[in-house]
Amino acid sequence: MDISVAIDGPAGAGKSTIAKIIGEKFNLMYINTGAMYRAVTLKAMNANITEKNVDDLVKLVESLEMHFEEERLFVNNEDLTDMINMPIISNNVSKYATVAEIREILVKLQQNIAKKFNVIMDGRDIGTVVLKDATFKFYLTASNDQRARRRYDELLSKAIDVDYDTILNDIIKRDYIDTHREVNPLTKAKDAIEIDSSALSINGVVETISTYINSNTKNIQHSL
Ligand code: C5P
Repeated sequence: MDISVAIDGPAGAGKSTIAKIIGEKFNLMYINTGAMYRAVTLKAMNANITEKNVDDLVKLVESLEMHFEEERLFVNNEDLTDMINMPIISNNVSKYATVAEIREILVKLQQNIAKKFNVIMDGRDIGTVVLKDATFKFYLTASNDQRARRRYDELLSKAIDVDYDTILNDIIKRDYIDTHREVNPLTKAKDAIEIDSSALSINGVVETISTYINSNTKNIQHSL
């Protein structure tokens, strides 16, 4: 049976950690769509192209070949995974992600991948735009404090020097831009299952999602 899973939610809600585990469990290709917006941001900043210079941005994005190899993002055959997760990219990515022309290109790319493979995708507009007909949709949230704490711990573990308040402010600012932009803002799809992970462990969230997928897969198979 073809299945696709959409996971949306604000920054630091644990989407990528959970999506990787569920992907392995159910044999789905994990596509981190945030990494694609981050890669565009890195390349644009390196080329001194601002989010206002849409023509140059489009040319730039059209020159980028992006693919994932075991959850790492390669752009024109260069592994950009570590660079795109640096705080400077987190602080700028939401501005670039507001550009409709960029979203159009990346959404098509994401939809083409989903046509070829069984995928689990995480992002902001997966259940509402990219995979409107996804078999399963989840919307993952957590308190601001929990989300900032997780990002802080993650960056510290990679020896990236950060302070907690800066991370918290970045997350709040990013959420504001992501939920208020005109094109494909972050919002829960009507048919998505909302999971607040503030008081749950990673295993707890994985269990909740797995149980839901397993019980509903049986129902889908029964009705075929
Ligand atoms: O998921 P991550 O936090 O890495 O995403 C980085 C940024 O990319 C988000 O804050 C958002 O601005 C943008 N994004 C998006 N649509 C997606 C995925 C990410 O606009 N589907």
